[in-house]
Amino acid sequence: MTPEERAEHTEHMREWSAKANRENWAEGEAGRLCEELYRAYLKYQQYLERNHFAKYQSQDVEAVSQQLYLQLQENLAKARVAERCLHIKSNGSQCGSPRMKKSRLCFAHTRMKETRPHALGLPSLEDPNGVQLAIMKLVQLLIDDKVDAKKAGMLAYLIQTAANNVGKVDFSPEEEPAK
Ligand SMILES: [Zn+2]
Repeated sequence: MTPEERAEHTEHMREWSAKANRENWAEGEAGRLCEELYRAYLKYQQYLERNHFAKYQSQDVEAVSQQLYLQLQENLAKARVAERCLHIKSNGSQCGSPRMKKSRLCFAHTRMKETRPHALGLPSLEDPNGVQLAIMKLVQLLIDDKVDAKKAGMLAYLIQTAANNVGKVDFSPEEEPAK
């Protein structure tokens, strides 16, 4: 490959990357194709590690592929963030399940959001951390006289039911990402 050809090739790759960037990564298709390309590139790198002669021959394309690789890494990071549920769990970690089409949340958290009460600020009861926080919240509401005894009694019963259920529910199914 002559320096001119290499420059042209690099320019072509740059245009390709810019075009790929313009695509909507949140729609998934570009991100998935990019992921495949990225995996193929990693295999290629491993092949070069095993075969020093090929590595010597490949030096012409190394500069271009290195640039492409860095761009792919950046795009993949964007795609991963874009396609994941943004719900923050009680322990502060992000849900990370595939999100629903045209939603910032996964299937389970879209449903949970619909069922969350507006008053009292009770946390989600989806995991043991949430149940524990709900108990603490209820204690606070009772001590601060923000909830009447009858309602508190019913809430305590429901939180207890949630505590019994929490080990049996599964809100992290292997869903297909948004298409
Ligand atoms: Zn989620």
